[in-house]
Amino acid sequence: MIDSKKLLKEYGLTANKALGQNFLVDEAALAEIAALAQCEGKSVLEIGPGLGALTDELAKRAKKVVCVEIDAAMCALLEKTLDGAQNVAIINRDILKVKNAELAALLGGSFTVCANLPYYITSDTAMKLIDSDLPVERMVLMMQREAAEHFLAVPKQKCYTAASVIAGRMYEISEALRLPPSSYYPEPTVHSSVLVFKRSGKPYESAYSTLVRTAFAMRRKTLANNLASLYEKALVPAMIERAGLSPSCRAEELASADFELLLRSARAVLSEK
Ligand code: SAM
Repeated sequence: MIDSKKLLKEYGLTANKALGQNFLVDEAALAEIAALAQCEGKSVLEIGPGLGALTDELAKRAKKVVCVEIDAAMCALLEKTLDGAQNVAIINRDILKVKNAELAALLGGSFTVCANLPYYITSDTAMKLIDSDLPVERMVLMMQREAAEHFLAVPKQKCYTAASVIAGRMYEISEALRLPPSSYYPEPTVHSSVLVFKRSGKPYESAYSTLVRTAFAMRRKTLANNLASLYEKALVPAMIERAGLSPSCRAEELASADFELLLRSARAVLSEK
């Protein structure tokens, strides 16, 4: 096992708080997370490999591991810690600046994502992958419990957001593990969750995401009021009625399938105009 705490000391490095560097040092959890990825013989994207503790586990199982790491010092060390593993490619970039087309080219076909996400970009990174037409089969993502709650939320819960709906349409999401601060070095102040995202098989539709984001834009407004910024206001009541929804409903009351119906109704109303 790659011991990140020991390596930091050995190379005189300190964890960079601003980059969310809380390294996973729980040996059993590392093996369990790599197993959850079910990546035997597959291509894997790892975001933020750090010193390679998880990368090492993934590389033993996967055909290929593409790691995107922002910290040049980590990248330099990774070359050593992974001991020249032939199936690992290290890309020294900010994941949010790597275009999805570049990611697709690097992975070369369908792939799995496995990552201990840096907490300061958890939601942006997860949504970059979820709200896209990338051929992602499965994701195993470690994140703060609070961020995980958004992906596990159901209608009417406070943390039910546009991200919950969009992710819920594309993936079956479950919590596989909970990890205490003591699983990391340095210890964060919060607890973490490991979520498994299993692809639902539904094709990606950017129009669905636009509709959902617009519907949630102003939480206190009704669905009809929010949708008036996307469609001609006079047509919105007919769209809502045709989808079988209440004229006074709010986005937070609707399930992922309701938005599917709403999108179809909106298209039908527009085509009859
Ligand atoms: N995978 C390692 C582990 O589990 O021990 C490290 C995980 S640590 C929570 C997050 C990692 O993401 C760090 O190595 C950090 O440098 C890297 N990181 C932070 N921001 C990033 C970004 N924008 N793009 C790519 N990597 C980033």
